[in-house]
Amino acid sequence: QKKIFSGIQPTGSMHLGNYLGAVRKWTELQNKRENITISIVDMHSITMPHNPPALRENIFLMAATLLACGIDPSHTTLFVQSSVLEHSELNWILNSLTTMPRLAQLPQFKEKSRTVRDVPLGLFVYPVLQAADIMLYKATHVPVGADQVQHIQLAQHLARGFNTRYGDMFPICNPLIEENEGSRILSLREPSKKMSKSDLSPKGTINLNDSPDQITEKIKKAVTDFTSDISYNPNARPGVSNLVNIHALVTGQSIESVVEEAKQLDTAQYKERVSEAVIEHLRPIRELINKHLSNRNELIYILEMGSEKARKVAQATMTEVKQRLGLGTVG
Ligand code: ATP
Ligand code: MG
Repeated sequence: QKKIFSGIQPTGSMHLGNYLGAVRKWTELQNKRENITISIVDMHSITMPHNPPALRENIFLMAATLLACGIDPSHTTLFVQSSVLEHSELNWILNSLTTMPRLAQLPQFKEKSRTVRDVPLGLFVYPVLQAADIMLYKATHVPVGADQVQHIQLAQHLARGFNTRYGDMFPICNPLIEENEGSRILSLREPSKKMSKSDLSPKGTINLNDSPDQITEKIKKAVTDFTSDISYNPNARPGVSNLVNIHALVTGQSIESVVEEAKQLDTAQYKERVSEAVIEHLRPIRELINKHLSNRNELIYILEMGSEKARKVAQATMTEVKQRLGLGTVG
């Protein structure tokens, strides 16, 4: 059977890119009764300067949002990364299997490190922690957005390296990435970049808990171009194409039929139509987020149960790893 693992950072609210690029897939896999583990990866969220009370709130917000999107803790193991200590332990061990040049070339490191003056070491090595996240659960499949391809390749490289040195133990994981444009939703403000939680201009990001007014406002101000009709051409017209793509994904229509139906509209009118579709799609999710958020004890209970399940698997892997490496005194 497949073993599926994925994670999401509680750096801020879940946005439309996370949802359309990854989270929707997780619930599909879960509903097909696949073995799936989802982690709210809070240790990743401290690799950039952060605010502790906000991080704690965002962990609960992320848990509530995942439940609202359909993650069902009776089928999916849902837990917070920092409550399973083995993640850091395997990270340390994997640190010795990769090289600094390999990490320095990763595009996401290059991008994020540009925004800080003195680059934290954590930001540099976080893809290794990500590989540890995947390997601890011996995951065979990792459903992610297109921006994670290089990080999955690093995880594959580390699993191969480990297997060669210490004997076969880890599967070489496969990325599961949406084939359509959904794997990469762009920022509404800078359609040359992907939509991100850590974006410094939050107006480019539609969060799942945004109010209808906020959604309307953000889409109204989305950067498009000087052509007023609607067409789909991601290279020449990234802004408009991003809206068409979002529209198609939230309504379940094809790109062609979305464009066809928008034939009579100019960009301003079309933006109203996209807003309505997004608001309609997110309405029930937003209501569920609020419902789950108001019951913090339930969230704590769910996450604690998830940690217990995850910990069992992680501890078994670490026992084997330590034995292979000759660490410690037992096994
Ligand atoms: P951050 O800016 O803090 O890195 P993020 O928005 O990139 O946040 P992550 O928690 O790093 O979100 O990623 C969670 C999942 O969402 C990953 O599988 C990632 O590939 C996917 N994802 C993130 N942004 C997008 C996007 N714009 N389009 C499609 N998928 C995305
Ligand atoms: Mg990211």
